[in-house]
Amino acid sequence: MMDTNAALADWLDKGGRRIGQIVIAKKNDGWELRHADDAAREDLHLFTKSADARPLANLDDAGAYRALKTAPNLRHGWRLVLPDVASVRSALDAFYPAMIGVQLARERGELVPVNLRDTLARQTGMYRVTQRLTDAEAQVLIARSCCSDGGCLKTILWRISPELPVNSLPAEKFTARGGDEWPLLCHEACNILVAAARKVVKGDTKEG
Ligand code: SF4
Repeated sequence: MMDTNAALADWLDKGGRRIGQIVIAKKNDGWELRHADDAAREDLHLFTKSADARPLANLDDAGAYRALKTAPNLRHGWRLVLPDVASVRSALDAFYPAMIGVQLARERGELVPVNLRDTLARQTGMYRVTQRLTDAEAQVLIARSCCSDGGCLKTILWRISPELPVNSLPAEKFTARGGDEWPLLCHEACNILVAAARKVVKGDTKEG
C-alpha cells in the first residue's frame, strides 16, 4: 500500500493542482500554496513553514475563527512556499484535516459512509434529542449547513437513511471531483451539523 506522502506525490506528479480553495503550483524551490482567488496577485504575504498553515487556516478574512475548515471562507492574502511533498502534506492536513487520508481510504474501497440517522442514533447526552429531527427538518438543515455556497465544500457521500437520499441540494453536491482536484469528502455528518440539528429540534432558530 502506497503511503500518504507517496500518494500525494504521485497525484502532484500527474498534475494535481487544487484542493478546496487552495491552488498548488510547482516552483523551483518546491511547492507553492495560495488561495485560488489570489492566483494573479503579487502582493501576497510569504510564509515558508508547514506550521504556518494552521494559523492561516484558523481565521477568515474578518479575523473570525473558522470552526469548519471546509467552509468556503479561507482567508486571502498569503502564499506558502514549501520545500517538499511531506511539508505540503503537513500543511494540507492543517488546511483540510483528514481529507488526504479519507480520499485514499475511498480509493482502497475502505471508506464506509454513515447515514445521518445512524450518526444521530449514536448521540448521547445533550445531543440525544437530535434523534427527533424529522426528515423534512433534516432536508432543510442540510441544505442550509452543507451547501457549497456558504456552508461547506465537501461532497456528501451519506444519505439521511437507506430509503431517503438528501434531495435538498443539487446533484453536484454528491459527486466527488477528481483529476487535478483532490476531493473533499464527507462520509459522516460532522459535529457542527449535529449541533445545528439540536438547535432545530429545540426550536432555537437564532443561529446554526
Ligand atoms: S455534515 Fe459534512 S458536508 Fe455538512 S457541514 Fe459537516 S462536513 Fe460539511
